[in-house]
Amino acid sequence: MKIAVINSGSSSLKFKLFEMNTKEVLKSVLIQNIGENGSQFKNHHEALESIDIDFSSLNAIGHRVVHGGELFNKATLIDKNVIKEIDKLSSLAPLHNPANLEGIVVSSKKAKNIPQIAVFDTAFHSTMPKESYLYALNSDMYEKHHIRRYGFHGTSHSFVSKEASKILNKDIQKLNLITLHLGNGASICAIENGKSIDTSMGFTPLEGLVMGTRSGDIDPAIIFYMQRELGLSVDDIDKELNKKSGLLGICGDNDVRNIIKSKDEKSKLALDMMIRRIQKYIGSYMAILENVDAIVFTGGIGENSQYIRERVLKSKIFKNIEVLVIKTDEELEIANECLKVLKK
Ligand code: ADP
Repeated sequence: MKIAVINSGSSSLKFKLFEMNTKEVLKSVLIQNIGENGSQFKNHHEALESIDIDFSSLNAIGHRVVHGGELFNKATLIDKNVIKEIDKLSSLAPLHNPANLEGIVVSSKKAKNIPQIAVFDTAFHSTMPKESYLYALNSDMYEKHHIRRYGFHGTSHSFVSKEASKILNKDIQKLNLITLHLGNGASICAIENGKSIDTSMGFTPLEGLVMGTRSGDIDPAIIFYMQRELGLSVDDIDKELNKKSGLLGICGDNDVRNIIKSKDEKSKLALDMMIRRIQKYIGSYMAILENVDAIVFTGGIGENSQYIRERVLKSKIFKNIEVLVIKTDEELEIANECLKVLKK
């Protein structure tokens, strides 16, 4: 059984081919700078064409789709209607969904009779209760305009929670975890009985932790001030908060390896702020979970930096909690989700 996974970004295409019986990776291709000056590939179609495999030998192709809105709470076989709905959700994820769709469209043409399956970053968080996913706004904002917390990185939180269940030898349906996906983008998830009940990213991936280039939580009134007093446009502010803030904004670098090594005061401050925010979230999730079986670290920072892990867990309240470090594998999780859809 062979399943390919495509993660199509605005200028990149990641391709992985799995033999599902053994979970072996048969092929892994990363194509970057698609459509940019000097690139070998003008578009995603050319990029996909360049991958040398027999598409007719595949049992399915899984696609990462960032935003599934409220409609898609699990992996879904793609048809014309699903494509239309993913396209409609582009207003909620303008940077991601159109790029993900591009991958789906070129792959559907290339592999005509192969089942194409969409796996959504938001789906794992569809189990959040209202008190977690609603903002305290006028209810029209949710009911008419769908403004709510969706959460992201779900594929990763889901993957590591299942791995944790194997390691702890405890049924996932009885497992309470706090999973920390700490990469350039970062989020935390409170998992109760195997299900996401709260997560730090919200309506968009901007909410929550101090990230590589994103501010995470701020007083929303700062945005009015930036517009009224500093004369920034909405697009300027969007860029400011998503691309120029976080670790980069505080100390001029978003590579945590460099920041840890640096002797600069601002680098020290950036780490202190990042760690403080993580601790506040873990503490709040401990308060809403009755008990916590383990805290799980994953993502580039979570997997590799013992220094950060130790600093995060320094507080006495974490003393008796099991800590796991698990390498995430979002592509394998997508392939596993495809398998579930195929079995149906
Ligand atoms: P992305 O969100 O882009 O997928 P990754 O999960 O690859 O990001 O994580 C990238 C982050 O991981 C960077 O900030 C990088 O500095 C950090 N990182 C990788 N290795 C280490 C390490 N050994 N120590 C500290 N940070 C690390």
